[in-house]
Parts: sequence; structure tokens; C-alpha cells
Amino acid sequence: PAVSGMEVDEKPSVSYSTIGGLEDQIVEVKETVELPLKKPELFKRVGIEPPKGVLLYGPPGTGKTLLAKAVANETNATFIKIVASEFVKKYIGEGARLVRGVFELAKEKAPSIIFIDEIDAVAAKRLKSSTSGDREVQRTLMQLLAELDGFESRGDIGIVAATNRPDILDPALLRPGRFDRFIEVPAPNEDGRREILKIHTKNMSLDEDVDLDFLASLTDSVSGADLKAICTEAGMFAIREERENITVSDFMDAIDKIMGVEHEEEFRKE
Ligand code: ATP
Repeated sequence: PAVSGMEVDEKPSVSYSTIGGLEDQIVEVKETVELPLKKPELFKRVGIEPPKGVLLYGPPGTGKTLLAKAVANETNATFIKIVASEFVKKYIGEGARLVRGVFELAKEKAPSIIFIDEIDAVAAKRLKSSTSGDREVQRTLMQLLAELDGFESRGDIGIVAATNRPDILDPALLRPGRFDRFIEVPAPNEDGRREILKIHTKNMSLDEDVDLDFLASLTDSVSGADLKAICTEAGMFAIREERENITVSDFMDAIDKIMGVEHEEEFRKE
């Protein structure tokens, strides 16, 4: 049965080549998540335990989900994603049971990757106040820790979590044998932005004078998700004017629109 906040993809199609500007992160993910799944014997031979859980941290929309999906693709693993914040919101009193269910499913479908998005929603440092909601979150976290501890890594299940708020995580979660590897996934720099634009414009018919270097230089501090939105928006401007080619000015309008929205959001926060 479908559980909201959970997504199961038996054969995710994301490959590393569709991820821009995260070369170092890809190397780390390969070593910490992919290698134990592909070659568990390497770890056995030297007598060390492979990393159990890997935490990806960084701002929203920078490619954390893409990285986890790419590992699943590369290892022919089932991709099981849960959004921790949805779990505790929608299934009051059931968070712990659902966590257990997710680990069972992962074993059934192994090899598999469990991806826990927004893990801070169930794993923030213990609050002093103790409303029933907090206790529910606590129970969910306890179950998650129990699953991590009880789980003998036979090399066929990889666990990846993501957060924008590593600073608020309960240190209990980050102990050795739990999530003990951390990979920062930052917003892209100018080179990264050019690469991401290249990926998302690959199938677009661009005017000759569209210069991705120039667009990358204009989109300071924009995330990968925003860059994708800029490409889509530029395409929409062309469609609206019944043109086949996307022009520089379509991109300029798209950048204004998407970055404008960003700025507005910043304003609202202040
Ligand atoms: P969140 O923390 O908000 O869940 P995330 O870091 O998991 O975000 P993704 O879901 O991986 O971000 O990114 C959303 C979309 O943005 C991707 O499906 C992709 O289209 C685009 N995108 C983000 N980062 C990149 C990147 N580095 N390279 C290419 N595309 C990217």
C-alpha cells in the first residue's frame, strides 16, 4: 500500500553524469556507499566494518537526492526514500512502526538504498519541552537508532540521510556505527553552475549566442534546483512567443523571475 512520505523506485535512472559540480562528493559517495554494496569482501578481507550510514548536508536543492539515487542506479539497488518530516506529521503514533517497516522493506528488496530526507525532523537535539508531538518524534528517533544498531551491515543495504540543518542534529545519531560519515553538498560555485546549466540545457534548442559561462556568472548563490527552474522558465518564454529557439533574453527573463522570487523569500524572512 502507498504510504505518503515514502517513495520506492526499483530502478532509479539517475546517473552520475547528470549531476553537475559535485565531483568530490561523487568520489566520496562511491567510496562510502557504493563500495560496501559492490565489494563487501574488500572490507571483510581487511577486517573493518564498512560505513553504516552517510549523512549528506547542505542547502536545499543542491543534489543530495540525486547523489543517493545515482548510487542506487549504479549498484542496481532499490531506492527507498522517506521524508522524515512527513512521517511525523501524518502518522501520529505510527512513526516508529513505519521506520521498522521501511527497514523490513529494504531487506526484502535488497540490494537497496534507504534515503532519509530531512532527517532533522526526527533527529533534532532533545528539546526540554515535552509535548505529545515531541514524544512522538522521540519515539521515531529511538526506533531509527535501534534499527541502525541492530542492523548487521551485510553489504546489501546502504543508508543515506540528508539535512539542511546538521547543526541541530542529536549527537546520538552521529555516533560511530550510526551516521558516522559526513559529506557536505554545498551550493554550486561558478564552474558548478556552468556544468549544471549544461546538463539541463542538453536537450534544449538554444540560440547560438546563448553563453552558459555568462549565465553562470550571473547566477551567484543559486542552487542546482533553481538553475533547472531557470532553464524550464526560459523554455516557457520561448513557447509563449511561439519560438523554437531559446534566446539570451529568455534566459535573462527567467533569471529575473527565479532569482527575483528568491530575493522576495529572503525579504519575507527578514
Ligand atoms: P532538498 O534538500 O531540498 O531535498 P536536494 O539537495 O535533495 O534538495 P535534489 O532533489 O537532488 O536536491 O535536486 C532537485 C532537482 O534540482 C534535481 O532533480 C535536479 O533536477 C536539480 N539539481 C539539483 N542539484 C543539481 C546538480 N548538482 N546537478 C544537476 N541538477 C541538479
